[in-house]
Amino acid sequence: MRPMHDRIPRRPERIDWQAVDTVLLDMDGTLLDLGFDNWFWQQHVPEAYARLHRLEPGAAAELLAPRFRAAQGSLAWYCIEHWSRELTLDIGDLKRAARERVRFLPGAADFLGWLALRGKRRILVTNAHPQTLAIKDEWVSLGPLLDELHSSHHYGRPKEDPEFWPRLAATVRFDPLRTLFVDDSLPVLRAARNFGIAHIRAVRHPELGGPARATGDFAAVDSIAELAHDDPP
Ligand SMILES: [Mg+2]
Repeated sequence: MRPMHDRIPRRPERIDWQAVDTVLLDMDGTLLDLGFDNWFWQQHVPEAYARLHRLEPGAAAELLAPRFRAAQGSLAWYCIEHWSRELTLDIGDLKRAARERVRFLPGAADFLGWLALRGKRRILVTNAHPQTLAIKDEWVSLGPLLDELHSSHHYGRPKEDPEFWPRLAATVRFDPLRTLFVDDSLPVLRAARNFGIAHIRAVRHPELGGPARATGDFAAVDSIAELAHDDPP
């Protein structure tokens, strides 16, 4: 006999909204277009570094790529002050000057309004540095669409670190069994699942117009807007 899950039509994108009262939302790649961050770190910063050190932009990008890779998954990777020191560039100033490129992913802002109408708590949980969060918030006005905004820098660990989650839960009271978490990073999704968050969705297209990202064994949606649906009567 085939296992039960083979015979039940699977609709992994659908959330049982009756069972959820809190939604924890990632920022970059979930609510906002990751295209900004990819452009900023892969093109804009290497170009600024090249100007500073009189290098070809391609040579600067090659020089920086392994340094960026080595920091990935650590809080330093997300830290404006760390990279400003490392690269002798004012990363905060560079970001602020480029802020008009920051934008919501299609339908993401409407989805936050949809959640509010249904009385769901909307809590932003981001690895972005508080200064980056402030620059993006100023430009696209995240604040009015969310109940709380949290940067992992205040908790001393990034979201992919198992220690992050109990620290967050000690400050932000939420019932993991009645919480939905949405993110585009596999290591982060795994840490949230290991902590015991019951409802998890991966975002398959964090960058507008970009390629699909691997979502492992997580239920996934192309974009967060797909999660807005009312249960059939
Ligand atoms: Mg993200």
